[in-house]
Amino acid sequence: MGLYRDQGIVLRTWRLGESDRIVNLLTERHGKVRAVVKGVRKTKSRFGARLEPMVHCSLLFYEGRELDIVTQAEALEHFRPVREDLSRLAKAASLLEATDQLCQERHANPRLFAMLLGGLRALSAHDAPLLVPAFFLKLLSTEGFHPLLDECALCGDRYGLSSFDLAQGGVLCGACSGRGDAVVLSPAALDLVRRVLGGDLGRALAEPAGPAVRVAERLATRAMEHHLERRMRSLPVAGALAGD
Ligand SMILES: [Zn+2]
Repeated sequence: MGLYRDQGIVLRTWRLGESDRIVNLLTERHGKVRAVVKGVRKTKSRFGARLEPMVHCSLLFYEGRELDIVTQAEALEHFRPVREDLSRLAKAASLLEATDQLCQERHANPRLFAMLLGGLRALSAHDAPLLVPAFFLKLLSTEGFHPLLDECALCGDRYGLSSFDLAQGGVLCGACSGRGDAVVLSPAALDLVRRVLGGDLGRALAEPAGPAVRVAERLATRAMEHHLERRMRSLPVAGALAGD
């Protein structure tokens, strides 16, 4: 039992009784933390708007028996350009919800924290069409679901790769396609997905909207849904940021 300090990004919040709130945070060193914020809904709360979804903050926690308690919160970044633009707000909601759904509590992953922070900063700077699909693919890969992209997942053929099979977790050649739950993949879309996962994310994010981006988006959304085994509530509207 005791106090600990960390930085975190608010993923989701909900009410607890008359004046308290529960927040899910992705922290840098303690993984996903579910904590109570006391008195946050009172008009004179010292927490103000610091613990709204998407805010990046510096925090002091008190370890509780079941849930930890936020005793101090200092906002570091609010990502205003994202809040003031509905298209970007919907994308941010998708990043936060996917992270909240996929990450286990208390499973420290500083790389994942850096990825979410980087994603929100990139979205703040520029409304890149490929941002959400790229984030989904990298998030899945970080959590251990790295797709097979260089050869057919069934026969090993390296040519004529034309679809992505969700159950196999990899691409299929023309001869093997059509057997399962597959997303049709164009050569340009496959190239884009390889670049996103192969370390060329910066250039991939500069990709303008177009057919390849739409295919990559469908693949990333279906792959995420496949892993979560349910449809993402926030697609395509920003439901998760409504808060209370
Ligand atoms: Zn094959």
